[in-house]
Amino acid sequence: MKILICGGGVIGACTAYYLARKGVDVVVVERSGVANAASGKSGGFLALDWCRESPLDALARHSFGLHEQLATDLGRDLNLDWGYRRLETLSVVSSKRRDLTSLAGEARPDWLGADARVHARIGTTQTTAQLDPERFTKAMIAAAIDSGAEVRLGTVEGIELADDGTRATGAIVDGVSMPADAVVIAMGPWSILACRWLPLPGVFGIKGHSIVYRFEPDSAAALFVEVETEEGEVENPEVVPRMDGTTYVCGLSSQALLPVDPATVSSDAGAIEQLKELTASFSPALAQAPVLASQACHRPVTEDDLPLIGAVAAVGGAYVATGHGVWGMLNGPATGQAMANLIVDGSTPHVDLTPFDPGRMPRFDPDRLNLR
Ligand SMILES: Cc1cc2nc3c(=O)[nH]c(=O)nc-3n(C[C@H](O)[C@H](O)[C@H](O)COP(=O)(O)OP(=O)(O)OC[C@H]3O[C@@H](n4cnc5c(N)ncnc54)[C@H](O)[C@@H]3O)c2cc1C
Repeated sequence: MKILICGGGVIGACTAYYLARKGVDVVVVERSGVANAASGKSGGFLALDWCRESPLDALARHSFGLHEQLATDLGRDLNLDWGYRRLETLSVVSSKRRDLTSLAGEARPDWLGADARVHARIGTTQTTAQLDPERFTKAMIAAAIDSGAEVRLGTVEGIELADDGTRATGAIVDGVSMPADAVVIAMGPWSILACRWLPLPGVFGIKGHSIVYRFEPDSAAALFVEVETEEGEVENPEVVPRMDGTTYVCGLSSQALLPVDPATVSSDAGAIEQLKELTASFSPALAQAPVLASQACHRPVTEDDLPLIGAVAAVGGAYVATGHGVWGMLNGPATGQAMANLIVDGSTPHVDLTPFDPGRMPRFDPDRLNLR
């Protein structure tokens, strides 16, 4: 059985890993480089129970456990390390307009500025964790390759169907036919392109900006910050200190158009400067640290904010796994494991995929495609 995975982000990488471990023949086709899009530029923050009261809850809880297991197993067996650790998470408020002294809160990490207060502890080492997303995605690909998978740089330009259109028989990659028994669309927000080839609902990209600083705080805690600017606007940057002596800050979402080529995603004008100013407002120490990367990426979202995970209706051998929004790093392992079980065994014992059935929404009209 040969399975073609379109896209080398975290979802394609995790799917490749779990499929390859089942002994099937796996090829990942990636256009711009493994983890070159959101999967290499995200926060890598993980939470056990922050999807409670959502249909994502079971997927997230299972995936949080798989992250722990992967870090142990692949660390031991293949000596792979992606900076996974459990950590505490704090809610922080920063304002130059309001007096925050009444906020009792928790002790304030000494790298936060005078205007910032810890409002609450919102995650403990039992419930929150982090990893380096690029290293994690690449490690999953390396582990898949160790189990026999192959990665090819190339652009998926279409899906090949049997004459009666009821079965996927492969893909067109850089103009060349690549036959397969099953095809998985895992191209993040670029999965929208697959609406031209398969009856799939829409997937859209929401842009986020981020900065990686060379900064190692004394106390490692992830921060969810509410910054009230002098003009009274509220922004919500997120901060994740990493194991490698760097600290990641993200925020400032935008609806900027997705470019067709993932390699050409760029920051909105002024967004990185604004994110630096926001950082300075709650932590002057962090804002003064050397900048190692300033970047943007698009997280894949769907119209009902739930991912598309499962078989494509009426086209045998066609599958999709995308639309994970702000929780793609968290839910990558459970999604990859479920896809492998679904494709090879026909059922998913760990997670009920019914809420994520791609057939729950109508097909996106390819004539409405609007990419840069
Ligand atoms: C700023 C920001 C912070 C985030 N922080 C977190 C976090 O802390 N925790 C968390 O769980 N999630 C987080 N996320 C969400 C997470 O990053 C995404 O949900 C996840 O990376 C999506 O993975 P993916 O594999 O679906 O897509 P992508 O990472 O976009 O990968 C898709 C791949 O498909 C490739 N591709 C595109 N077109 C083609 C083609 N035609 N042929 C072949 N390949 C193609 C692309 O090059 C790309 O590599 C964050 C997202 C953003 C934007």
